[in-house]
This record gives sequence, C-alpha cells and structure tokens, in this order.
Amino acid sequence: MALASKLNHEGIRVYCICGDGELQEGQIWEAAMTSSHYKLDNLCLIVDNNNLQIDGKVDEVMSIYPIDEKFRSFGFEVINIDGHDMNQIINALNKAKTVKGKPTAIIAKTIKGKGVSFMENVADWHGKAPKDEEYKLAMEELN
Ligand SMILES: [Mg+2]
Repeated sequence: MALASKLNHEGIRVYCICGDGELQEGQIWEAAMTSSHYKLDNLCLIVDNNNLQIDGKVDEVMSIYPIDEKFRSFGFEVINIDGHDMNQIINALNKAKTVKGKPTAIIAKTIKGKGVSFMENVADWHGKAPKDEEYKLAMEELN
C-alpha cells in the first residue's frame, strides 16, 4: 500500500501494527527489506513489544531481540517508546512524519493486559476472551 501510494503520487501515509511474536515470521523481514529498498518514508510500523506470544515469552520461544538494531540494520528509522505513554506515542508518530527516505519503526514496549491484575503479563490471555465474571472484574479494575 505504501509503495502503491508512492508510485501513484497519492501522498497517503500507511500505518502497520504488528506483534513482537509476529517478528519471527520471514515475511516481516521481506517486507522490511522491500520498504527500505523503495525508501518508503510514508510507512510507519508500530511493534507491540509485550514479549508475549501465544506459546509464552517471545525471548524463550524464539528471541527477536534486539528489535531496534534489527530494524536499523534493515534501513529503518527506529524510535523506542513506552507504549503506555500517550505523549511518547504522539511524539513518535509526529517524528515519523518528518523522516525522509526511509520507513520508520516505532518499538512500543508494552505490558499485555496492563491494569488488570489477573491478566498482566499472562500469555494465556493472548487468544481467549474473558468470561462474564472476569470481564466485570477487569472493568472494575480499569475504572
Ligand atoms: Mg506479543
């Protein structure tokens, strides 16, 4: 989409969000290489770096660290942020708009289930919905 926008002079920006476990997939790095090769400065990737995937901790299943150095070596501008800090998120997105000649990767360090005591940092919540009682308790804790 970012390449098509460049070729068609549409001037749109493309935002892509991916999980950290997803970075274990080869197609991610093919896309990263392509984005850099075509100087897609209209592309902004945001990595949700919670270090959890469906099978457990990312660094135990198959480490993808150091994420920032990997994307830098693939030609990206890299911005590391606290993914729970809205000011850092906004500043990073604004900075990405000013980058010329290369794509940007925002590595957002996050905690899965943040704010809900029984969900924080628990990989089991990767792919299941809470039961009614769990949902109620989670909403009480978030409020
Ligand atoms: Mg994850």
